[in-house]
Amino acid sequence: MADQYDVIVIGGGPGGYVAAIRCAQLGLKTACVEQWINKQGKPALGGTCLNVGCIPSKALLDSSERVEQIQHVNAEHGISVKGMNVDVPTMIARKDKIVSQLTGGVEQLFKANGVTWLQGRGRLLADKQVEVVGHDGKVSVYEARNVILAMGSVSIELPIARWLDTRIVDSAGALDWETVPRRLGVIGAGVIGLEMGSVWRRLGAEVVVLEAMDEFLGAADRDIAKAAALQFKKQALDIRLGSKVSGVDVTDRGLVISYTDSKGEQRLEVDRLIVAVGRKSNAPGAVAENAGVSLDERGRVVVDDHCQTAVPGVYAIGDCVRGPMLAHKASEEGIVVAERIAGQKPHIDFNTIPWVIYTHPEIAWVGRTEAELKQAGIAYRTGSFSFAANGRAKAMSQDNGLIKVVADAATDRILGVHICGPMASELIGQGVIAMESENSSEDVARMVFAHPTLSESMHEAMLSVDGRAIHAINRKR
Ligand code: FAD
Ligand code: NAD
Repeated sequence: MADQYDVIVIGGGPGGYVAAIRCAQLGLKTACVEQWINKQGKPALGGTCLNVGCIPSKALLDSSERVEQIQHVNAEHGISVKGMNVDVPTMIARKDKIVSQLTGGVEQLFKANGVTWLQGRGRLLADKQVEVVGHDGKVSVYEARNVILAMGSVSIELPIARWLDTRIVDSAGALDWETVPRRLGVIGAGVIGLEMGSVWRRLGAEVVVLEAMDEFLGAADRDIAKAAALQFKKQALDIRLGSKVSGVDVTDRGLVISYTDSKGEQRLEVDRLIVAVGRKSNAPGAVAENAGVSLDERGRVVVDDHCQTAVPGVYAIGDCVRGPMLAHKASEEGIVVAERIAGQKPHIDFNTIPWVIYTHPEIAWVGRTEAELKQAGIAYRTGSFSFAANGRAKAMSQDNGLIKVVADAATDRILGVHICGPMASELIGQGVIAMESENSSEDVARMVFAHPTLSESMHEAMLSVDGRAIHAINRKR
């Protein structure tokens, strides 16, 4: 008879491993199937996020930002460094060490919580059976009362730019280069294009980002996107909007990218290319046809608001379902599903999931933009505050950007917070707390923030909704 579990999770990324730990905490006999083999050739937990996503990219963003500071910012503080040496292999090794520490940490957490790690490729069969093909090819079948599908996503490959050794790569490839390309092309000015483009530009590459859309960062608030675009231009991150790539030729001298823009046909020669045009669900192939679970046209598992599929007891979470492809969204869905399986009634508010782009300055937002509210016919007021008038931002030499707040015109309830500026990734948490607490802009405007802090800009932006910002000239209402 097959081994039986209360819960089998397929996928050990931030969706799956968090779900598995929470299930075990709740007393459920839990196993997690994970197939990942890391750079060192060893099985690893942690998924895209820990191995080739959030964490390694932030490690390189931090290292490269130090180089940028030494080269371009320290002089105004009166600090000069002569003979700076950038050792990229050491940078990559540091990144790899962080990855090993964190993925090893998840393995320890599995042991401590009693989660069984089934190493290999999992597939959901009919009747909540799960087939696991081990790394040695051995096939085992397990039974579960509940199954959580958390297979995540992979980079989309373009037929006109197939992966090619270290020359045409996705984000994972670009996290492992040990030399700096002289000329780097990036297809896609989305989150990965901007983050990875920033890393290699700071390390010395000439970076050109080709974006098909005419609008920059279409999902972001327009004022925030404008402020960010201005800074990227100053940094010589060359973002070419409205660029439709038609082909990539591999020559002895490098890669020749053909594209068309409003002026006609263009050619761009680069040494390496990152293709960052989005990611696609890993669910196809991991769900047997007779399992009863449907996939949508993009290969995502069809689920309801509670991550429940059409089969009772089978759930799906994270990048392989609808919604934003974000680690914290995947994890939160994992927790909610685990608690639902255990008979609790947890809740997740998809309207307050924050977005962060870890460029310099950082970009972050939560809730709705002006454009979305206009489209929905909701009357709103806005308030904003520039970091140029924030003492702490000035002291940090990071006074570019702004915080913008959107509040309901009738109730003053905060509907969105949008930031481009220093530590936006941390500041956005205040927006999340305010929105989850159903605060009005007046509520936050009445709170006291320490001086001098970046948070004072949040306070002033809230005051500004009512035309009461102190360190700004308020618009007449
Ligand atoms: P994944 O992390 O993709 O994990 C899925 C796991 O399932 C993988 O380990 C895979 O091996 C395994 N798997 C798949 N199929 C099977 C199978 N059949 N059997 C067994 N195992 C299987 N998000 C953020 O929130 N913040 C960031 O800063 C951020 N930065 C990113 C940077 C980069 C370069 C990339 C690529 C992504 C980044 N993301 C970021 C997105 C984030 O990584 C994903 O949203 C997140 O990892 C999704 O979690 P998940 O558990 O759904 O899937
Ligand atoms: P994305 O959807 O953010 O951006 C893709 C961009 O490529 C878009 O602007 C799109 O218009 C453009 N594009 C698509 N096809 C194109 C083409 N043929 N030519 C030119 N441009 C084209 O996708 P991504 O940057 O690949 O990232 C994938 C996902 O990973 C993101 O959606 C995000 O959820 C996640 N991620 C998150 C973070 C973070 O939270 N900081 C960081 C990295 C990745």
